[in-house]
Amino acid sequence: MSQLSFEFPDGSVKQFDDGVTAQDIAKSIAVSLGKKSVAGKVDGQFVNNDEPLHKGGKIEIVTSDSDDGLSVLRATAAQILKMAIANDFDNINFGESAADEDGFFVDTDKPDTQISVDQLEDLSKSMHKIIKEDLPIKVVFLSTDEAKKVAGNDPYQSELVKENAVDGQVKFFEIGDFKSIAEGAVLPSTGKVKIFKLLSVAGAYWQGKSSNPMLQRIYATAFNKQKDLDADLEKRQEAHDRDHRVIGNQLDLFFVDPKVGAGLPYWMPNGATIRRTIERYIVDKEVANGYEHVYTPVLANLDLYKQSGHWAHYREDMFPPMDMGDGEMLELRPMNCPSHIQIYNHHIRSYRELPLRIAELGMMHRYEKSGALSGLQRVREMTLNDGHTFVALDQIQEEFKNILNLMVDVYHDFDINDYTFRLSYRDPQNTEKYFDDDEMWEKAQSMLKGAMDEMGLNYTEAEGEAAFYGPKLDVQTKTALGNEETLSTIQLDFMLPDRFDLHYVGEDGKQHRPVMIHRGLVSTMERFVAYLTEIYKGAFPTWLAPHQVKIIPVSQDKHGDYAKKINEQLRKLKIRSSVDSRGEKMGYLIRDAQTHKIPYTLVVGDEEVNDNSVSVRRYGEKNTESESLDSFVDEIQKDINSYSRE
Ligand code: ATP
Ligand code: ZN
Repeated sequence: MSQLSFEFPDGSVKQFDDGVTAQDIAKSIAVSLGKKSVAGKVDGQFVNNDEPLHKGGKIEIVTSDSDDGLSVLRATAAQILKMAIANDFDNINFGESAADEDGFFVDTDKPDTQISVDQLEDLSKSMHKIIKEDLPIKVVFLSTDEAKKVAGNDPYQSELVKENAVDGQVKFFEIGDFKSIAEGAVLPSTGKVKIFKLLSVAGAYWQGKSSNPMLQRIYATAFNKQKDLDADLEKRQEAHDRDHRVIGNQLDLFFVDPKVGAGLPYWMPNGATIRRTIERYIVDKEVANGYEHVYTPVLANLDLYKQSGHWAHYREDMFPPMDMGDGEMLELRPMNCPSHIQIYNHHIRSYRELPLRIAELGMMHRYEKSGALSGLQRVREMTLNDGHTFVALDQIQEEFKNILNLMVDVYHDFDINDYTFRLSYRDPQNTEKYFDDDEMWEKAQSMLKGAMDEMGLNYTEAEGEAAFYGPKLDVQTKTALGNEETLSTIQLDFMLPDRFDLHYVGEDGKQHRPVMIHRGLVSTMERFVAYLTEIYKGAFPTWLAPHQVKIIPVSQDKHGDYAKKINEQLRKLKIRSSVDSRGEKMGYLIRDAQTHKIPYTLVVGDEEVNDNSVSVRRYGEKNTESESLDSFVDEIQKDINSYSRE
């Protein structure tokens, strides 16, 4: 019998007979490992524990308590789910299925009907039946012709047969008379899966491409222990409760309608109020810190983006140009930098003007992939709190610190504490994606690193995350769903000043080249509002809350006028107040104000009318407190102003 050679993670190499299994190999190392092993990985590819191996390579033993072990459990659960679906639904097609760190999924396509959330419970019961029968799961290799027969009229499976064929054979898993194309490794019988949960159904494009048909994806998860599933479900619930798309809907902040345009959000009055408040805040803050705010057009001649390099390096993210029919091509800008360069270049600049800080709430458009779009977090039209500082070489470090300090100051005002710094460099393996000047990259990258080290700040380093024109410092935060996103960014750029031939007149009377620093303090309005919604769980601090005060008269007839009078008084003081005059039951109206997370609810009845007072209920509290109107005004004004350090 021929021998196979396997290399272990510690580098040692051992020989085994052809046809050996991962479990045999595990046992040969230690009996205990043999017991714990649930699968193997040969050269990174999963193999079943009892699958005869005919090729050597780098081997890892997968144990049940590892992340890979969990993947094997989930891949098994995915097979059981597929079998249950095939049993319960006639003529159903299967797309891809897979297990990952979040759970597992199975894609299906049923031409006449669709699987809905309501059917998950029945499917779950069918799975339990298959589990109870403890059916063996076998690996079988079918010839491509046999595999095509199994795929039958299913266009997706037929495609997968073609993709998965190796040497004219396709690997399948077989449970009873159900066969499906193998994905990962699975446990030896259905009874090994005990704890699983079918979670939701959502659309997913076949193979992730938006030009392909939309399939129905069933999301699910599985664990070894009930307590792990319980903890996971709790985490999912918390993420759901925090999800800005869910809260955005509850509080009527914004909506996105794919029929009108995917990734093109509409801001409802409540969301618009939050956004306006942030915009006013940030413009005031920047003006106080030496920035000059401008307005520039979202459209420009394509030549501008050819000159800047966007057309060469960033085209994938740009909308196609508009042919105006007279030879002119207009482009929607993906970044504001070239516009601010026009502002810089409109006058002759002197060293006395540097650092010259130009800022704008600049609208831009990026053709993000449809699968990446998410509520306000990732959109196709966005308004960036953008700024470009033009500095002399010896001012870089100082200006970098200024920006960082301003950013930390702003974070404090929004109570943002959970973030990390990431220095983003170019990918040394893939330099053609970037502006081609090795010396510039070395210099800029070491300058950023030097500034961070000098300030004693912790950071991680990421290759391949730089902008095409230079390295950056990114501030990373986590979304409710646990994805890392960039919130703020400071980027160093020696390239654009060169491409646009920027100058300033130095103290020596000669022309010098400035350096550009791009920065976005609070990201785009879209991503920032998404982020704030999630960290505050929709309970915005009073200064940002769309409705700050809700006044509820006990009786519309008797106290309605008083409520209106207070409302007018508060509005004159620029407090966002309104009267709830729907005349519903008091308990309901108070609860409604709480559901909408309004910071102050004022109840007014006979007593309040008589002594010019209000009965105040603060958001999240159970008691109401009687106060004179003056003292309430005092309190809310202090509250509104309390965000700022000044
Ligand atoms: P990302 O890596 O998130 O795609 P980027 O590095 O391409 O972002 P920049 O060109 O640095 O982004 O844009 C400035 C800021 O705009 C980013 O730091 C991010 O906070 C925000 N932003 C970028 N793309 C989007 C988008 N599609 N929707 C909402 N905000 C975005
Ligand atoms: Zn820029």
